[in-house]
Amino acid sequence: MPSLKFIPDDRLVELLLLVPGERKVANVQSDGSELWEHVEAAQPAEVNAGLRAARPFYSAKSVLMPVSEVIARYGRAEGDPLDEAAQATMAVIGVRGCECRALAYLDKVMLDEPMADPFYEARRKNATIVGVDCALAADSCFCNLLGETAYPEVNFDVNLSPIGGGLLAEAGSEKGELVMAEAASLLSDATAEQVAERDAMRQRTAEQLASQNADYEFPEDFVESLPTTLEELFWRVELGNCVQCGGCTAVCPQCYCFLMFDRGSGEGAYERARAWDSCQFTGYSQMAGPPGTVKPDPRRDHMSKFQHRFAHKFWYNPLIMGILGCVGCGRCADTCPGGIDLRKVLSQVNTEYARHG
Ligand code: SF4
Ligand code: SF4
Repeated sequence: MPSLKFIPDDRLVELLLLVPGERKVANVQSDGSELWEHVEAAQPAEVNAGLRAARPFYSAKSVLMPVSEVIARYGRAEGDPLDEAAQATMAVIGVRGCECRALAYLDKVMLDEPMADPFYEARRKNATIVGVDCALAADSCFCNLLGETAYPEVNFDVNLSPIGGGLLAEAGSEKGELVMAEAASLLSDATAEQVAERDAMRQRTAEQLASQNADYEFPEDFVESLPTTLEELFWRVELGNCVQCGGCTAVCPQCYCFLMFDRGSGEGAYERARAWDSCQFTGYSQMAGPPGTVKPDPRRDHMSKFQHRFAHKFWYNPLIMGILGCVGCGRCADTCPGGIDLRKVLSQVNTEYARHG
């Protein structure tokens, strides 16, 4: 078992300031709202509250894959954005288990050759990830229904587990071991009672998740059940609540689509930027074609876009990549103005599939 150390609440920020990264952002709770904030700018109590709260609305994706970024400059514009990304280092603090698992998916999409994304690669390589256990689940969380835990198991350098009076810290990589070594004077060995307290906290969260999701049941095999239930009436009922705002894909820690555009940045200077896009938007999949013609669009109608979101995450991805496109964080339900909740949709898939026999 990796060695567990105890950091008291009043020394936590000192530990976090030792995590490498020119930019250190933590998910903090301030005046009842949560945000990604520079650790130096936040009050220690806000940082601590952020680590003890339910998972944030905006995941670590918004830090590692910004909403928009410049990827090239030309004309009279100066500076290479890739050099800038390659030199920037950061610490991302308060990354939940679902977000750590989502990173495994983003890494596969963004780092696999021959299409590795150099900007994501640079940011990911230069980031130190400080994870945290969920001492509390949000009402919409359902990681348990996907067989996952509410604490980080992969993709963290250091993980923190909130207990009374402080947190237990554990290294998950060589980078994390170095942080722990540097912070040795702030840390003490965890006692058996403290480890038992952490285990009890994890158990409480697991029980909260089991209780709040007791009414939902997912199919055992999404790849089998989803395609065979796509004609069922409930899809049309759910579709009626979707206004194509794209909120669900924006907050999803695993959705990665972006569009690119060029713009002027001064006299004779130009830049190419990219920004998050959504498969739910009209025109998202429209292709180029001769002027004056109807442009081909394989997902022209709303239903095909709506179903695509589910099919991509629960059918094509497991089939092609062996990994689900969802970690059960519930953020999409929190943001959806139509109240569309994946738990309900997937439970309906399960019911209809069972009825098909
Ligand atoms: S689809 Fe929804 S529940 Fe699943 S990872 Fe994305 S935001 Fe979270
Ligand atoms: S958040 Fe809801 S309404 Fe908006 S695009 Fe997604 S499913 Fe549709």
